[in-house]
Order: sequence, then structure tokens, then C-alpha cells
Amino acid sequence: MRWTDQYRKAVTFSYDDGVLQDRRLVAILNRYRLKATFNVNAGLGRKDGTFTYDRYSVSRFDLAELKPIYPGHEVAMHTFSHPSLTGLSRSEIVSEIERDRTAIEAVFGAVPVGLAYPFGDYDEAVIAVLKELGVAYARTVATDHSFRLPSDLLRFRPTAHHNDPAIFDLIRAFLDEEADEPRILSIWGHSYEFDGDGNWDRFETICRLLADRDDVFAGTNAEVLLDRMPSTTPNRKG
Ligand SMILES: [Zn+2]
Repeated sequence: MRWTDQYRKAVTFSYDDGVLQDRRLVAILNRYRLKATFNVNAGLGRKDGTFTYDRYSVSRFDLAELKPIYPGHEVAMHTFSHPSLTGLSRSEIVSEIERDRTAIEAVFGAVPVGLAYPFGDYDEAVIAVLKELGVAYARTVATDHSFRLPSDLLRFRPTAHHNDPAIFDLIRAFLDEEADEPRILSIWGHSYEFDGDGNWDRFETICRLLADRDDVFAGTNAEVLLDRMPSTTPNRKG
């Protein structure tokens, strides 16, 4: 079933790196019945995947811990060890994607179909490898404030980062628009930013504005970009 058969608008979220704060993010999304895609690095966990954001220590989950964190949401690739793919040889790019894909499939029992580029970096050589490997979509970090469906799924630009000063104007414009063709609002970020920036209330407000809209399909990146709906829409009240 395609969401565009029933809706003119869709909203989707994308959050990167598989960090501990994702648990809080998922709880908020679930409360508002919204969906996200989580892009994880199978080769990085608590031991090797810890880093600093604005003097705040950030930890990744180990891959084996992730399954209970994301039920109802999409888990997608973010490469095995989070390098900038544009600095790698073809075989290194293949390895970064295939190792991530295989490990995610082993834990979640489903082959991930999408990817977020580490640091948003890509070029023609990277895209050629993604095509060869059958990656269905790939998200950049460049945002365009647009509600258009992407014409090139391997150069998918979200509408805005959650800290974008225009985010609330964009949400209002998206909800108010009289759409006669499919429109999407896509918001991305890292959940650790809310701890570092002290603004979890911002995410709560974003979700509250977008929740429970009869005219907006809330889906994962894969559902929204590949025009799918879950075969049965779970009733996730409470
Ligand atoms: Zn990342």
C-alpha cells in the first residue's frame, strides 16, 4: 500500500549515530505516534564510539543492545565505522557499507535499505558504489527548506535540522499548505544535541505540532521516500 493513495503530506524524522539519547527520543516520538529512521554504525559501540559534543560526553549503544530501542521505527545504515566516504577507495566504501548492512541484518532480521552519509559527505564515486550495492536511498545533511519529494533518492536532502531557526515557520507552512501533489517534511539531527544544547523541549514542541494530523502520514524515511505504508498501521496509543 502506498501512502500517497491516502495522503498528500508525510512527515519523517532521521537521527544518526545510535547514541544513548535515542531512547529518550523514541519515547517522545512514540508518545506522539511519529516515526523516525535511526542510522547506526555497526562497528562502533560504547568502547570505540564515544565522543565529545560541546564538552558533553556522548556514547553509542553497542549494536547488540539496539533491537529493543527502536521497535516500530526504521534502522538504516550509517557505515560500519563512520569515515568520510569521499576519502576512501572503492573497495573500502564497499566494505564500510556491506559490513554495516550485514551486521544490522543479523541483529534486526531485516536488510536495511537506506543510509545516511557520515558527515554528509558523498561524491559521484560513492553514489556509483551505492547503486551497485542496491542502496535504495541515502540522506545528506544539506537541507533545502523544501517539501518536494526528492528527485534523486541517493542525494536526499531533508527539509531542515531540528535546530534550524526556521523550523517552526516551516512546520506551519507545511501544515497550512493546500497540497495537490505529495509533500514531505523531513527533519534530521542527533539526539545527543538535545542534551548538549539543553533543548529537549524544542523536540517535544516539534512533535506536538505534527502529532495526530488526519492529513499527514507519519512514516520512516523508507516508507515516505519509497512510498510505502506499513501493511497494518499499529495502534500505538499510550
Ligand atoms: Zn554520524
